[in-house]
Amino acid sequence: MVDLHHSDDDAWVDLGPEISPAPQKPVVGNKRKAQRTCPQMSKNQPKPKTQKRKLPSASAELELPSDDDGLVLDLPGRAPVVKDTEHQVCDCEDSSLKAAASRVASVVDNKYIDLLDILKGQVPCAVEMRCHLWEIFSVPRCTPRVRELGGRARRSYDIKHYWDLSAESFQRTTMQDVLLLKPLCLFMSPPCTMVCSMQHSNWRRIKHKDKFMCLKEALDFIDFCAWLALLQLTMGLFFALEHPEKSLAWDRASVQNLTKKDGVKKVTFDQCMFDLRAPSGKFLRKRTCLLTNSNAIVMAFDKKFCGGHHEHQRVEGSECGQKRSLLAQVYPGPMVDAIAHAVLLEGSRVPGF
Ligand SMILES: [Zn+2]
Repeated sequence: MVDLHHSDDDAWVDLGPEISPAPQKPVVGNKRKAQRTCPQMSKNQPKPKTQKRKLPSASAELELPSDDDGLVLDLPGRAPVVKDTEHQVCDCEDSSLKAAASRVASVVDNKYIDLLDILKGQVPCAVEMRCHLWEIFSVPRCTPRVRELGGRARRSYDIKHYWDLSAESFQRTTMQDVLLLKPLCLFMSPPCTMVCSMQHSNWRRIKHKDKFMCLKEALDFIDFCAWLALLQLTMGLFFALEHPEKSLAWDRASVQNLTKKDGVKKVTFDQCMFDLRAPSGKFLRKRTCLLTNSNAIVMAFDKKFCGGHHEHQRVEGSECGQKRSLLAQVYPGPMVDAIAHAVLLEGSRVPGF
């Protein structure tokens, strides 16, 4: 019997290693590696205790941050996971970004589909324990607003909240959590730096061979999101995948497969319509797409295009010592509000939510 009577603050469902292996130490750069250890998932061991505002030491068992307080671990930037794909690196070294991406095969089929059979017959999570929203590849952005509005939202599966989704064990555990805890909506915003339009002009100039590995990792993350989205669709639940309009994500076979499914729609909008601004106060247009099966999200964002009634600042470049592209990754308040209200509206149509 699976014990589901746990707090949503727990980082995973403790099913024991026979169902899903414990997240093992992911392959990371030395600097990050020194800052983290991974806990063991076993029914015989106590769950890691939550401790706030303290980084784990290499010698101690990792203490998970609570998703509730917005704690962000001060980890250095993501290091590429270097695997044995040297020949691919050589193939793509002189190609354009788009050509390089096209040589990274998109994996359409969910790699962890065996979990469906393994978890068949498990006691489902009670509706009143289920969350309205989980955020994938994002620190809590919409979560606090959902809770302010009376909804349930607690989880953030992001590297800054310990979840290194470049590691298969973490991906598998996330998939397992989704299957068992059945959040109403997954809002997914995988890293876009390597696959966005701004990177196209940089691609040839980047000499570092790790650029290919960074690209591969970014594309793998998109496939992973597509698998999660398909899972939600199969369970009659909701998802939204957010990426820039010019992202290579939309060319991925996994995403195109998802787009063809009944009830799935891709909407496009300008973030300036939701008050995205540079520190100077000028609007940032940042045309963005959401792929979703939520009518409420479609209604909130579809074709919300800028009418050109205000001045725009280019996203490229820096301001106040920070890249505007990074600043623009923070969702503006009205966009967060629109997402939260849309998710809660979907919830209001589901008995128990
Ligand atoms: Zn505008």
